[in-house]
Amino acid sequence: MESALTARDRVGVQDFVLLENYNSEAAFIENLRRRFRENLIYTYIGSVLVSMNPYKELEIYSKQQMDRYRGVSFYEISPHIYALSDNTYRAMRTERKDQCILISGESGAGKTEASKKILLYYAVTCPTNDHMAALGDRLLQSNPVLEAFGNAKTLRNDNSSRFGKYMDVQFDFRGAPVGGHILNYLLEKSRVVHQNHGERNFHIFYQLLDGGEDDQLNTLNLERNPQNYRYLVKGNCPRVSSISDKNNWKVVMKALPVIGFTEEEVQKLLNIIASVLHLGNMQFGEGEEGDTYITTEISNLARLLGVDGSALREALTHKKLTAKGEEMITPLNFEQAEAARDALAKAVYGRTFTWLVEKINQSLALKVHSKGSSVIGLLDIYGFEVLQHNSFEQFCINYCNEKLQQLFIELTLRSEQEEYETEGIAWETVQYFDNKIICDLIEEKHKGIISILDEECLRPGETCDVSFLEKLEDTVGGHPHFVTHKLANGKTRRVMSREEFRLLHYAGEVNYNVNGFLDKNNDLLNRNLKEVMCQSDNQILSHCFRREEVIDQKRPEMAATQFKNSLMKLTEILRSKEPSYVRCIKPNDAKQPGRFDEVLVRHQVKYLGLMENLRVRRAGFAYRRRFEAFLQRYKPLCPETWPNWHGRLVDGVLTLVKHLGYKDEEYKLGRSKIFIRFPKTLFNTEDALEA
Ligand code: ATP
Ligand code: MG
Repeated sequence: MESALTARDRVGVQDFVLLENYNSEAAFIENLRRRFRENLIYTYIGSVLVSMNPYKELEIYSKQQMDRYRGVSFYEISPHIYALSDNTYRAMRTERKDQCILISGESGAGKTEASKKILLYYAVTCPTNDHMAALGDRLLQSNPVLEAFGNAKTLRNDNSSRFGKYMDVQFDFRGAPVGGHILNYLLEKSRVVHQNHGERNFHIFYQLLDGGEDDQLNTLNLERNPQNYRYLVKGNCPRVSSISDKNNWKVVMKALPVIGFTEEEVQKLLNIIASVLHLGNMQFGEGEEGDTYITTEISNLARLLGVDGSALREALTHKKLTAKGEEMITPLNFEQAEAARDALAKAVYGRTFTWLVEKINQSLALKVHSKGSSVIGLLDIYGFEVLQHNSFEQFCINYCNEKLQQLFIELTLRSEQEEYETEGIAWETVQYFDNKIICDLIEEKHKGIISILDEECLRPGETCDVSFLEKLEDTVGGHPHFVTHKLANGKTRRVMSREEFRLLHYAGEVNYNVNGFLDKNNDLLNRNLKEVMCQSDNQILSHCFRREEVIDQKRPEMAATQFKNSLMKLTEILRSKEPSYVRCIKPNDAKQPGRFDEVLVRHQVKYLGLMENLRVRRAGFAYRRRFEAFLQRYKPLCPETWPNWHGRLVDGVLTLVKHLGYKDEEYKLGRSKIFIRFPKTLFNTEDALEA
């Protein structure tokens, strides 16, 4: 028989807290590598689940597997996403406390797949409620719809979620899922009008063109070939080998009625998708006096948008300003007209996406009031992002990760402390890096980067991205986590351009290029375009563009502030729940099975803060186990506890460890658990069992 030691050498430890050298990143990565080689994609850090993307279908998600994990304690069986799902569910049931599962990791690491596995686990294994028998179905069916509209092929992931998602699943007192609610964050709208080489627009456009019926496309005045549409050709990537747009279209069309869309609503939705494509193909000509006119046919577009053609034409080529109570209409120049067209396309698509989420929420809403219900929240949100060129979007995404890291530290420390208290063990202070200082730098009122950005957007007169950068230097220039070309004085390792600022995030340094920050934060749509749109006879659009917005002259919140506020709400929601964590890692950039790129993995271990995580978890005791479980497993090692111990559990454990020769500093006995300080102690005991 293989000894425990050699098995450990081959497949690594299933919980990182058992690593002998828990401060060594190399040991951490070696453990990941060993397990990955054996297709063991899951490993724990205490109660955190680390998940490696296998890039191949593993036979580990069947109904039988679900049954294996039901009701079984975390440590008794190999790590699995089902174990985490089941534990969370049981904690919700037994402790009557709302739970949440936070899934993080970089693009392509497997967050969305993980969240789908969790949902599937609940849909299959939970009891059903008679009133809401179809709810599990609707929960599952909402996914392909959201993915069609919110996901796209990028260089890093063929099915990349371009929005953040938080989903609550509500359970009744019997533990049956009875309701759901989705919050969406920051859809990457710029993708509607521009894609980088090798990337695509949102899936839905290609699905419609490939899968739509002939007469459907005729009615929408569309041709099959995506290459005919300006908004679809930028990435020069109409097809993706891993994706069948045609089949996915069928799936979406089937899902829409299940989640409550009427035939009419589906038709209106198709009109909107088509109108965005037609908008993209609209062309402008330049008049003699610098004015602009539309050279392409507009009536079809106006019909699809449900608006008046000449009003649309006027609004796309002119700007309406109110100065001193008087309205002035001025013509747009060529670039301005193109920008107005693109802004309209982004607004139409972005708002339709928000409407779609609302609509799904109506379908998932709790229909019957159910007493004693509790909630499991699932957060699938973009991980830390460092690209070649980082802009406003990366700034928001990385800010979001700072916030989540802060929450993580707070909650992990809190739960560690609570466990020590319930077990009656003295709390040992843990040293860790508190990233609040970076969160403040970004979000503080009046002084933080977001406030300065807003101010610069509102300031009358000549403002531009560079003046924003200068303002930053003046205001936060002295902050230890903020650097620019000027402030660095040639002292930084990487050369910075004059248009960049660098933030020293908890996970590492990122340079942000300020180009486009103001525009993206402003996210403006000309008022006369709003006026036209709110008269649309397409109910979806008239819902999305409200009359009040035109009448109310107050400027809506800017993009970064909106995001900040929604993050504040999100942290409040999460803080009120008991958290579990899934940390996803992708093994290589080639989307291939079996390849473990050490450099790439090391990066992610760093950005996910896993070493810090392990340190906090290991600060006191490496391992803890309930008395029953400990005694049950090791009682054969001591004649007094074998075959059965009849006294108090704690005395049994004490007798056992004394017999095994544990030294006083190696362990502590709490009220219901034994705490073991070093993994070696436990390994020796394990080895004794194997011998
Ligand atoms: P993004 O941030 O871009 O949305 P993500 O973390 O959500 O990325 P996923 O879309 O979940 O990444 O995963 C990317 C791809 O990796 C999937 O389409 C699938 O091919 C593969 N994959 C991920 N997890 C698994 C898994 N557990 N088993 C098999 N394949 C997986
Ligand atoms: Mg995703």
